[in-house]
Amino acid sequence: MTVGNLSNGREPLVGLVGWRGMVGSVLMDRMHAEGDFSLIEPLFFSTSNAGGKAPAFAKSETTLKDAHDIAALAKCDIIITAQGGDYTSEVFPKLRAGGWNGHWIDAASTLRMRDDAVIILDPVNLDFIRNSLAKGGRNWIGGNCTVSCMLMGVGALYKAGLVEWMTSMTYQAASGGGAQHMRELLTQFGTLNAEVRALLDDPKSAILEIDRKILARQQSLSSEETANFGVPLGGSLIPWIDKDLGLGKQQGEEGWGTSKEEWKGGAETNKILGQGAAFGTAETPVDGFCVRIGAMRCHSQALTFKLKKDVPLADIEAMIAGDNPWAKVVPNTREASIKDLTPVAVTGTMNIAVGRIRKLAMGPEYVGAFTVGDQLLWGAAEPLRRMLRILLDA
Ligand code: NAP
Repeated sequence: MTVGNLSNGREPLVGLVGWRGMVGSVLMDRMHAEGDFSLIEPLFFSTSNAGGKAPAFAKSETTLKDAHDIAALAKCDIIITAQGGDYTSEVFPKLRAGGWNGHWIDAASTLRMRDDAVIILDPVNLDFIRNSLAKGGRNWIGGNCTVSCMLMGVGALYKAGLVEWMTSMTYQAASGGGAQHMRELLTQFGTLNAEVRALLDDPKSAILEIDRKILARQQSLSSEETANFGVPLGGSLIPWIDKDLGLGKQQGEEGWGTSKEEWKGGAETNKILGQGAAFGTAETPVDGFCVRIGAMRCHSQALTFKLKKDVPLADIEAMIAGDNPWAKVVPNTREASIKDLTPVAVTGTMNIAVGRIRKLAMGPEYVGAFTVGDQLLWGAAEPLRRMLRILLDA
């Protein structure tokens, strides 16, 4: 099937599922901003409001279709979904089993590691995407948000073959969990503020009294108030993201004590780079800890590299800055770091800020860096819409 050039001259029918979620909303904004809707006939689906009104981007069909209606989905040339992994697990196999041969573009992790799926991050792996398309590839899956943002920032060091290993310590925003998680965090902040508002208004009140009341309220948050994260996040952090891969494993066994988010760091980085057993080459070890913090948007990461050789810092900075138009090197000064290397500075921009680049005390091959990227853009929505463009241009 040629998508961009349908023989009857019609615009490709593109099914959009998950368009009102966190990733989906950002995707709609970006597609609108880049004029993507002028190139397609969109068909909007919903899991909760079939028959309702489609969003303003709708063209011919202004009614929401049922996202579980396989026959309706199968009419699409391309389906883009940001609905989530459960949806993919349920619908994708039925569609393919029914003979649907269209292109499936997905933000969920479900299909990422399948042999017939490509993890899409075209500024890093456009050649691989094009080769797979030429060979009949049909499954295009967005990468894990921290991995994609990391590779957009420091991919140059991998492309140059300089990385012996890397650790990544993440500071991941609440929006990584989706729309409901953001609401929960903000509601918790409001609850905590309300608990001590009178004391805050009184400049003479004792700070330890405020501290005690906040802790007591955090520790007494109900299961409804922590329904999404499971524990308080407002004024705290959560040092585990996604499933526990250690279940059923013995100490020392692969996967023991590792979260799925941490496992994705190594597995997906190597797959995007076309490295590892599936490609008949060695993997670059990538591992670390993934931590949820109370930021709204943007995943930040402290990176430690062991390089294969001593490379001058100026060369490293030049490689990063020259790799793609979105990687922005922030000078390693206090002033620039606190101004330009934060979620507040980066959110809503396409920039991947890379700063704090310095040699570490362990030796000249050890390099540290800190990177911040809006995980809803490069970490989720942007690779999906760019894949749509690649298909339309093919
Ligand atoms: P989300 O915000 O929870 O949205 C998913 C779906 O939830 C929506 O499409 C919507 O479906 C439903 N929903 C229920 N209540 C809602 C509400 N109050 N507001 C909006 N939608 C609501 O999930 P997401 O964060 O966008 O993630 C979607 C997929 O992308 C997941 O597989 C996730 O792992 C992946 N991903 C997420 C990120 C991220 O940073 N969030 C990054 C990369 C990949 P209906 O309209 O059908 O009801």
